[in-house]
This record gives sequence, structure tokens and C-alpha cells, in this order.
Amino acid sequence: MLEITKESIEKAIEKARITKPKVKVLEFRRYAVTNKTTGANYEVKFYKISGKKFAECDCKATKICYHIGASIGAHIIEAEKMSRQTV
Ligand SMILES: [Zn+2]
Repeated sequence: MLEITKESIEKAIEKARITKPKVKVLEFRRYAVTNKTTGANYEVKFYKISGKKFAECDCKATKICYHIGASIGAHIIEAEKMSRQTV
């Protein structure tokens, strides 16, 4: 599990903008990311622990990867929907 920092996520989003993988919502906090070129599938999960944000991806990367960068946009939308439901 990797902590999401402003710097690490910005780099990942930047890389995702170039590679443009496909993101599918599996459930809240769980996303499937597909590399359109290779067809490879990865699963990204987001966690929030004592105010800190973490993410996990099942690719080989040991830092915040572009799969996480690609799915955080969808995650922010989903998180927004969830918070509206509970209000
Ligand atoms: Zn990844």
C-alpha cells in the first residue's frame, strides 16, 4: 500500500494523461484499469486511514503508478457521490 502525496499523484496523473488507460468502476474504492495498447488489466484500490490517503495497484510498480493516476479522477467523482448520499 502506497501513500498518496500531492507530488506523487501529480506525476501519476501526468503519465496517465499520456497513456490514457481505460478506467472502470468495480465498486466504491475499487477500479479496473486497462492498458489499451497491451490489453493488460490492473486493479486499483483506494484507502483512507486516519486522514491519510493510500492506494494499491496490482502492477509491478513500487510507487504511485499511472494506473492509480488514471483512476483517481473516477475515485474523486465516486467519493463525491458517496458523501452526497450520506448528507
Ligand atoms: Zn499500477
